[in-house]
Amino acid sequence: MLDQARIDALRHLPVAPQQLFIDGREEAAADGRRMDVVSPLDGKVFTSLALAGAADVNRAVASARAAFERGSWSRAAPAERKKVMLRIAEAIEREALELAVLGVRDNGTEISMALKAEPLSAAATFRYYGEAIDKVYGEIAPTAEGVLGLVRREALGVIGAIVPWNFPMMIGAWKLAPALAAGNSVVLKPAESASLTLVRLARICVEAGLPEGVLNVVTGEGAVAGEALGLSMDVDALAFTGSGGVGRRLLDYAARSNLKRVHLELGGKSPNIVFADAPDLGKAAKAAANAIFRNAGQVCVAGSRLLVENSVREAFLGELVKAAEALRVDDPLAVTTDIGALSSAEHLARVEAHLARARQEGAECLTGGARIRTETGGYFLSPAVFAGVTPEMSLARAEVFGPVLAVQGFDSEDEAVRLANETDYGLAAGVWTANLGRAHRMIARVRAGLVHVNTYGGSDLTVPLGGFRQSGFGRDKSLHAFDSYTDLKSAWISLT
Ligand code: NAD
Repeated sequence: MLDQARIDALRHLPVAPQQLFIDGREEAAADGRRMDVVSPLDGKVFTSLALAGAADVNRAVASARAAFERGSWSRAAPAERKKVMLRIAEAIEREALELAVLGVRDNGTEISMALKAEPLSAAATFRYYGEAIDKVYGEIAPTAEGVLGLVRREALGVIGAIVPWNFPMMIGAWKLAPALAAGNSVVLKPAESASLTLVRLARICVEAGLPEGVLNVVTGEGAVAGEALGLSMDVDALAFTGSGGVGRRLLDYAARSNLKRVHLELGGKSPNIVFADAPDLGKAAKAAANAIFRNAGQVCVAGSRLLVENSVREAFLGELVKAAEALRVDDPLAVTTDIGALSSAEHLARVEAHLARARQEGAECLTGGARIRTETGGYFLSPAVFAGVTPEMSLARAEVFGPVLAVQGFDSEDEAVRLANETDYGLAAGVWTANLGRAHRMIARVRAGLVHVNTYGGSDLTVPLGGFRQSGFGRDKSLHAFDSYTDLKSAWISLT
């Protein structure tokens, strides 16, 4: 499917100015505000977006509520909802390459990753939750004779979903698919710098049979559209992926409004821990490079801290630098590219500030960390490896969300655990060892929601994803995701 000629035919297609998607229709913002969409590939404007104001968000919430009350989706038999979910999955797959190219033009991810991680993963997610929903049962409680205790799982109502720009379709689908399968209506607020594929997804859903109003998309600024959604008195839950700072705001919005539930998936500073007894240090070095550099490090679970046992550190770093330098930073729409662009000029500036600070604090740059391909007008950095990082340095603590790896050495398993857990976050981790006992000890002792062993970055829909500590407390993926979009209702029935 990654056919360069087809990609090249799509890369310059004009993209019509985008509207909001409310009640099954494309609509302008009430006050007509818009913003230009700049491509990170060349720094040029290629379309524009409607900017929703509070009135638009309230209109979208009202549409979602009305659809929920009408019941054509919320009270449809699960098997009926399943049919529509499967049709959505098929439609996404049919348009996968178009969606992937549109998304890359918007956020700069390399196409080889974007195709799999965005439309194809979103399709798989719609299929998974569509298939699941007619197989989820309620419970009968083990009561005494003479009564019947039932535990029902019911849709919450209207879900506000707020998502980031790094993998908009994948993360959007992680929220939308379980929420919709369970019978909720959704108002989705994409990130300003990656909205295009999600507006298109809403249209695909309606064309596949999702009733109007069940899914609404309000593009716009976080501080305006996101805040209005957060403060709405008629949104039952917020499903959020993004930064800790905005996550804190959402908790505050909930407290100041209707105590809506808030599910937070936040950032990380994930340790990738390489022991000298790793089964294949060469493979571990390549994986360590991919773990931080794919999608230019703009991955929530990125292995951004490499902890390596001192006895193999020098040799390992040699392999790692080779692996980093072998990764091709190039045109995000070339199928041979390993690392694409940073998503926006603002984000590039943030990452460059982290690089400057790391140098200032005395970390040793072994390779990379420079702006490249400037002649394109796009936002590209060469992958950077910093050694000699100490726990006090900001590079050991702050989430950079860019192609920047911090390396620390350790001498014992206890020290590895201490360093790994010396962070406010707890999203993911990696452990490389051939010792089965050590692998299990590390899984238990590292405080993170996802611990990889002898691999990094892989996992599928069958396991939940979410953080410990300040990486949040929501869980996307797997059947556990239904917990965020449903409520338990008990019924107590006298039989006498
Ligand atoms: P962000 O927090 O800046 O923005 C996320 C979303 O929140 C965007 O849609 C934005 O418009 C909206 N927003 C911003 N201000 C708001 C406000 N005041 N009120 C309501 N909404 C507001 O995050 P980002 O820069 O888009 O994404 C990067 C972050 O996301 C990183 O921290 C990354 O680790 C995290 N992330 C986490 C996961 C995970 O699964 N845990 C996955 C991907 C990304």
